[in-house]
Amino acid sequence: MYEIRKLNKEVINAIAAGEVIERPYSIVKELIENSIDAGAKNIEVHIDFENSINIKIVDDGAGIDEKYLGVSVDRHATSKLLNSNLYGVTTLGFRGEALYAIAAASKLTIISRTSNMSEAKKLIIKNNLKSEIIPTKGKLGTEVIVEEIFNNIPVRRKFMKSKTSEFNVIRSTIKKIAFSRPHICINYYENRKIKYLFTAGKKEKIIANRISEVLGDDFLQSSLYVKEVNKDFSIKGFIGIPTYNKPTWNDSIIVLNNRVIKDRVILGAIKAAYAGLISGIRFPVVSLFFDINPDNVDFNVHPTKSEVRILNRNIINAVLIKRIRYALKKAGLVNSVSFERNLINSFNSKSNIKETLDINFENTLNTFNKNYQYNDIRLESNKIEKRLGYAIAQINKMFIIAQSESKLILIDQHAAHERIVLEKIRN
Ligand code: ADP
Ligand code: MG
Repeated sequence: MYEIRKLNKEVINAIAAGEVIERPYSIVKELIENSIDAGAKNIEVHIDFENSINIKIVDDGAGIDEKYLGVSVDRHATSKLLNSNLYGVTTLGFRGEALYAIAAASKLTIISRTSNMSEAKKLIIKNNLKSEIIPTKGKLGTEVIVEEIFNNIPVRRKFMKSKTSEFNVIRSTIKKIAFSRPHICINYYENRKIKYLFTAGKKEKIIANRISEVLGDDFLQSSLYVKEVNKDFSIKGFIGIPTYNKPTWNDSIIVLNNRVIKDRVILGAIKAAYAGLISGIRFPVVSLFFDINPDNVDFNVHPTKSEVRILNRNIINAVLIKRIRYALKKAGLVNSVSFERNLINSFNSKSNIKETLDINFENTLNTFNKNYQYNDIRLESNKIEKRLGYAIAQINKMFIIAQSESKLILIDQHAAHERIVLEKIRN
């Protein structure tokens, strides 16, 4: 018989803290979320990473009143979740665990001042011990400094990855949050050098501005806008054209009710919408905002709140797939399979690519133009011929190998077509 006993409080707390703080990026995420919940309009994030990693986040939010400074770092202490209802939560935090978990894993300093306070107050927690609260210099808002991360949890420290890898996930975390809140300015510094400057931008262009700041103009130019608004939910954002695909979902951002989420079901539906357009092992890039009545959403699934339960998911998935398919079709991209067949036929019948290796690629372009009336392409065909050279072979009905004076060129037929269609729409 084994004895069954309750874990002691220290172990219980360490387990709970570990669920919230997986790696340093989790700390950055929780702190930025707190600043957002405090109504900050400007947030500064500083990461110094030489031998060890230090984090500092400064915001101009509401601040923490000195009488609550001490309790703010206790477990399950929160100023949110006022009506004790886990559904309908609109703040990013509500579990009252982040400051507690960060304090359990590091040395935590909080400096804060509300508009009622004449000076800022400072609290330090080290080795789970709270310092006295002392007056200090500080602007309106809150500054949180995290040092000695995982010094007291050697196992976690071992799991910390290289500097590059930690920086990468932190950057990706910041980009995603910045994307979800285009109205908030976020400045991010690495080793005291500015890395990202996310400005709030002009009002009417705020979302497009943030998308190009976060994901780059490249994505903006290779994507289509989708929008669905009905009484139960709305979906808005940009979906990449199929050729703008990646080996992982890492570049995609899904925002649900202003919160960045990881949701396999939504990603699965998106992948299904691109069926036949992207190979099974590649993924589209999307940046989509979902707004769903908060009463139908449950974020209390996981301590990091990145997973979510949604009522009537099937309806949302179906609409999502339909919207994406529609956008791709409208852009002429869904029909590319039949286009490819024509392209391939024209090669085979006119030039017999299997036997003759010396086919002028312009033939293909001419057929192209005849069938699809791409006048702009016809005008350009001389130039293209020079750039693309002569088609000399076709592989697996997918690629054309061409040769120019000095180069060997590999053309993805499918991609070439999408590019042409896109240029046409753009023109
Ligand atoms: P939660 O965010 O779930 O409430 P946290 O442990 O992250 O729990 O924070 C505890 C409380 O501390 C918050 O509810 C909030 O009142 C206060 N707080 C934390 N960070 C800030 C901040 N940057 N500005 C103002 N208040 C803050
Ligand atoms: Mg929080």
